[in-house]
Amino acid sequence: MKVFVTGGAGYIGSVCVEELLNAGHQVTVYDDLSEGHRSAVAPRATFVHAQPDEPGNIAAAVKSAQPEAILHFAANALVGESMTNPGKYFRNNVYNALQLADAAVENGVRKFVFSSTCATYGPPDRVPMTEDLPQRPINPYGESKLMFEKILLWYQQIHRLEFIAFRYFNAAGASEKLGEHHRIETHLIPNVLKVALGQATHCEIYGTDYPTPDGTCIRDYIHIRDLAQAHILGLAPGRSGFYNLGNGDGYSVRQVIQTCEKVSGKAIKAVEKPRRPGDPPKLVASADKAIKELGWRPQFPKLEDIVATAWAWHVRHPDGYAD
Ligand code: UDP
Repeated sequence: MKVFVTGGAGYIGSVCVEELLNAGHQVTVYDDLSEGHRSAVAPRATFVHAQPDEPGNIAAAVKSAQPEAILHFAANALVGESMTNPGKYFRNNVYNALQLADAAVENGVRKFVFSSTCATYGPPDRVPMTEDLPQRPINPYGESKLMFEKILLWYQQIHRLEFIAFRYFNAAGASEKLGEHHRIETHLIPNVLKVALGQATHCEIYGTDYPTPDGTCIRDYIHIRDLAQAHILGLAPGRSGFYNLGNGDGYSVRQVIQTCEKVSGKAIKAVEKPRRPGDPPKLVASADKAIKELGWRPQFPKLEDIVATAWAWHVRHPDGYAD
């Protein structure tokens, strides 16, 4: 298939591009490189470097590529930042995405695959979380992704744009070549591994008074190669709707730090800090729907294996990507 991938130079997008190419698809990557890295884009992919917010850019790129499917990874995705700069999230994650959806309709694109998030749910009434739970986001990041989910529902109904939206839980790990390198790192696992690498004196725990067994937030970590595989499965005709992608196991911040110590063999100093605004206490997926309906089978379900792939990548690339 001819596939157009926004954010294909980013952490999750680049791994998906790698898997798409391995599966025989023809890939165009569209990325502004604000977060992504040119060297993370496989040479076999066509690369378009352009800003999403300049009028006409997205439309022109989609028109030129004439893709059968669009995979939309490009987004701002930091809960904490969204609580201080919500406009950035609504502009990029809703307005720019809307231009992409319009371009999809105008060019007869058959399938739109959207990177959504468990942050659309807010604090859930129960875990593991199924797709039918009410969505009540508690940060602008989750709200912006929910707004675009709703746009996709209307576009499917009115324009017959078939979509599949994956609600990711916490993406983690690395492939052989590709890993996590944000210019400003806010995510838990890479920040903890920085201590093990000797690049930071300590990591920080945001909140120790949550209603969880050890007082720290619980998340469900999912390997990026498993996320990528779900996207390949989602490209098949007729597959549409909303799917959670997680392993169904919750790990607290303290448990993640312990796992990083075990994998790296280094002691990791952690400093307790206040809560980070916008963080729900516990998010754990039920991915039964993706498993049953898409035939999705995560290959790296154990946190220790996920962290081991991240650690191996950071050891090989202590400064991340060169660009
Ligand atoms: N967290 C932390 N210290 C850090 C980074 C994150 O304690 O340096 C916590 C954060 O508050 C959240 C969890 O770890 O409860 C996962 O955060 P991350 O930013 O990795 O992903 P998110 O769940 O926000 O998408």
